[in-house]
Amino acid sequence: MANDIGDLPEELSTLTKVRDGLQSGELSPVEVVEAFARNMDAGRRINAFITETIERAMDGAKMAAERLQGGEARPLEGVPVAVKDNFCTRGVLSTAGSRILHNFVPTYESTVTSRLWESGALLLGKTNLDEFAMGSTTETSHFGPTINPAGLKLGLENLTPGGSSGGSAAAVAAGMAPGALGSDTGGSIRQPASFCGVVGMKPTYGLCSRWGIMAYASSLDQAGVFGRTVRDVAILLDVIMGEDEKDTTSCERGCLNLEEALDTPMDIERVAIPREIRAAEATEEAELVWRKAEEMAREVGCEIVEVSMPHLKYALPAYYIIALSEASSNLARYDGVRYGYRAEEYDDLVDMYERTRAEGFGLEAKRRIMMGTHALSAGYYDAYYKKAQQVRAIVAEEFRQAFKRADLMLMPAAPAGAGELGVAIDDPLQMYLGDVFTVPVNMAGLPGISLPVATDKRGMPLGLQVIGPRFFDDKVVALADRIERALA
Ligand code: GLN
Repeated sequence: MANDIGDLPEELSTLTKVRDGLQSGELSPVEVVEAFARNMDAGRRINAFITETIERAMDGAKMAAERLQGGEARPLEGVPVAVKDNFCTRGVLSTAGSRILHNFVPTYESTVTSRLWESGALLLGKTNLDEFAMGSTTETSHFGPTINPAGLKLGLENLTPGGSSGGSAAAVAAGMAPGALGSDTGGSIRQPASFCGVVGMKPTYGLCSRWGIMAYASSLDQAGVFGRTVRDVAILLDVIMGEDEKDTTSCERGCLNLEEALDTPMDIERVAIPREIRAAEATEEAELVWRKAEEMAREVGCEIVEVSMPHLKYALPAYYIIALSEASSNLARYDGVRYGYRAEEYDDLVDMYERTRAEGFGLEAKRRIMMGTHALSAGYYDAYYKKAQQVRAIVAEEFRQAFKRADLMLMPAAPAGAGELGVAIDDPLQMYLGDVFTVPVNMAGLPGISLPVATDKRGMPLGLQVIGPRFFDDKVVALADRIERALA
């Protein structure tokens, strides 16, 4: 059975093919949903889903069939997708991977998911994640870890899919959904995409509304997507991006329609490779990806420009101050009063708050609330939070300078392939260090995509990141697509 994981008939093997087959009438929405539901069933031990919504998808598929036949098909009519469980979905359990929301059924829909449904997509289920998207392995989830399907295919039973959007990445890798929604605060889409061998992209900060996503660190959080190809990712992003009056940090897209960008000649002449971080993070696997990056850049006709970004390495510690500070504030709302878990026994109101939070949050969430609260406290604010904001500004400036010399930048998505489950959870600092290549992108609000370009000694996938200046998401997907085609 292990070797069947992720197998799909050719016509269902990418989201693009599913969409095109549905639009042309060669595929029927009911059969499409059935095919993915079968894989969800076969791969249940992967634990990719917290909640499955097959019945709802089947009902939707019947309606989609009518629209397709009636010539009223919308862009994603009948295309099934999986959604990370930190997006609020009306009437469907939405837990953020936390005990404190284990029973939370939202009465409203996040903006990006409502855009998916309005374009005809169907919900297959809600995927597993680290609690409140805090983690890199899915092990901080109240619902247990997800298992990496790429590992299972190699007979490696116990590898992390990465995180925090590990359930979404695994669902796409295991052929349980043609595409999936994730969120990326410091790498939670790009790193699991790398670990599972799929494509994952976070767009420029602000291109997707954050409304209805359970907040982790609001100045860094951004919705994004997974697919099997760059085009899959472009198709999904085109539907979910755009300004939303409910999120004042959201904005109109300043770039081309992304799928169109793949078919439009676009000038991409120079790609940057940052020098210092390459030398400092010279793991065997990272070096393999750096070299592959250079090879692919040449192959698609780009000149390589080495740039100096000496402060890039400080993005990581600064990120963990800023993200945790914002988390400590965002998570203050979970107090047992309005929704979610409430302690069963308590003496008075304050005791109810305390017990609810003590029992409702997991260890990692508590660690982060405490560290973030400390960083924001009166005596330490200047030393930690303010300093981290200064570092953030310097990192953003270094990117700006680099993008004066090059159109885009290349970097590995992670220092290594997927690790064993059970290791990172015991050594949080080591886990944080694994985010070194992804967090700078969030700190500067840039678009970044990860696509599989190599494998490590075990055969596990390694992802390459293509990073662009803000609002050049179209160039990012265009270069990623060229690399993907050059690899094929
Ligand atoms: N691993 C990082 C963290 O734990 C990033 C998580 C994310 O992007 N949501 O903060």
